[in-house]
Amino acid sequence: MARYTGAVCRLCRREGQKLFLKGTRCHTDKCAITRREYAPGQHGQGRKKVSEYGIQLRAKQMARRYYGVLESQFSKYFDMAERKQGMAGENLLRILESRLDNVVYRLGLASSRKEARQLVRHEHFTLNGKKVNIPSILLREGDVVAVAQKSRNSEKIKAVVEAFGSRPIPEWLDYDSNAMQGKVVRMPNREEIDLEVEEHLIVELYSK
Ligand code: SF4
Repeated sequence: MARYTGAVCRLCRREGQKLFLKGTRCHTDKCAITRREYAPGQHGQGRKKVSEYGIQLRAKQMARRYYGVLESQFSKYFDMAERKQGMAGENLLRILESRLDNVVYRLGLASSRKEARQLVRHEHFTLNGKKVNIPSILLREGDVVAVAQKSRNSEKIKAVVEAFGSRPIPEWLDYDSNAMQGKVVRMPNREEIDLEVEEHLIVELYSK
C-alpha cells in the first residue's frame, strides 16, 4: 500500500500546527514545531501571499495528514460525506474520526495514528469479537474494539497503555480499562473533534 515515507515533522511545520504524527516525541520539547515554528525549506521563513485556492488546499492537506489518509481515499470520504444528511465538512470529519485506527488512538491504545495502523495490521485488536486487520474500517455506533486476547500481555501494548492510558478519552467513546475494550457510544460532535481546521474550506476546494 502506498504511504508517505518522508520526515513527518515537516508536515506539521508545513501546516503550522501539531499533527501528533510521532507519538511520544510530540508531547516533549523536542517537537520540531515548537523549536522551528515556520514552514520547512529554504523559503520557509519568507512571507508569501497565499491565494484563496492555497488556503483551501492547506486546510485539506492538514486534515488529510492529521488522519494519515492518502489523497484518493480522502476524496472518497468527501464523496461519502456529501451524500450524507447534514453539513458535508462536519460529516467528513466524523467519517475520519470513525476510522478504526483513529478510534484505537483515541482510546489511548497507540501513541499515534501511525502506530495504531501498525498495531491493527498486526492483529492486536478485535472488532465486535472478531479478528480485524484493516485500519480504515469505519466504525458505527455500538461497535466494540478490544485488545486481542493474545496481545494483552504483549510488551508493546503494555508500554503504550502505560504511557498513554491516562490520555483523556472523548465522550463519544467508552473505555473499560479492565476489559481493555472501548465502545463507540455515538458519533462525535464537531466540538469534540480537536482538529483546528475550517472544514468549509475543504468543501469549497472540492466544490470547484
Ligand atoms: Fe509534529 Fe510530533 Fe513532529 Fe511535533 S514531534 S512536529 S507534533 S510530528
